[in-house]
Amino acid sequence: MNGTRPIIEIKNVYKFFGQLQALNDVSLSINSGEKVVIIGPSGSGKSTLLRSINRLETIDSGSIVVDGQDINAKDNDINLIRQELGMVFQSFNLFPHKTVLGNLTMAPMKLKKVPELEAKKRALALLDKVGIREKAEVYPAMLSGGQQQRVAIARALAMNPKIMLFDEPTSALDPEMIGEVLDVMVTLAREGMTMVVVTHEMGFAREVADRVIFMDHGQIVETGTPEHFFTSPEHPRTKKFLSQIL
Ligand code: ADP
Ligand code: MG
Repeated sequence: MNGTRPIIEIKNVYKFFGQLQALNDVSLSINSGEKVVIIGPSGSGKSTLLRSINRLETIDSGSIVVDGQDINAKDNDINLIRQELGMVFQSFNLFPHKTVLGNLTMAPMKLKKVPELEAKKRALALLDKVGIREKAEVYPAMLSGGQQQRVAIARALAMNPKIMLFDEPTSALDPEMIGEVLDVMVTLAREGMTMVVVTHEMGFAREVADRVIFMDHGQIVETGTPEHFFTSPEHPRTKKFLSQIL
């Protein structure tokens, strides 16, 4: 694609927790603007892989290059690289003692020295985007899970990341709130954001993913388009997993 290099390049990555091998020779290249959905059973290494991309976990061997920078290289500033990576977790992880607006303005003001007025203006625009501008002045505890997760997405976007990582963003939500969060993610995808999403929401995968990746026992077992996955998965473990969740 016009000579562009992948925005994330994961090569031969191994990660152990003591004796337990969480990642076993994982390689994966993701292009700018691509949407990759990662599926797989519990304990297969999905979170470890995602967390390794912004060095919330340190890998034991292999390499991870984000936007041209080796995230484990000693001379690279991981905090600068992390500014390119927004992350959204299953548990929303908002700052409970800050208002919604405070949650959104804190990192841009502190880390990027964005002036307060500008940070607030941008925060309100983002709250508009996720559909909860009217909640700007309330504290997270006053919000539903779906609203908190939308704030968490807006907060990640406030840093203007190039890539968004989502780790089961709807798994902790009551069913009626899943849609409002997925809608925000679909919008983000349509705008061209590079997204890596761990999820069990197969409707989302079908609609949004350029590529679906199935992991098991720390390995990428199968990769393909959503059509491939939902009509003709090849690996027995993929078939078994899909038959259990669909
Ligand atoms: P998934 O997200 O696919 O459910 P994880 O990446 O969380 O899987 O975990 C992969 C494996 O690594 C699991 O066996 C899990 O128990 C183990 N693991 C994950 N984090 C840690 C940790 N901090 N310490 C020890 N083991 C861990
Ligand atoms: Mg996980």
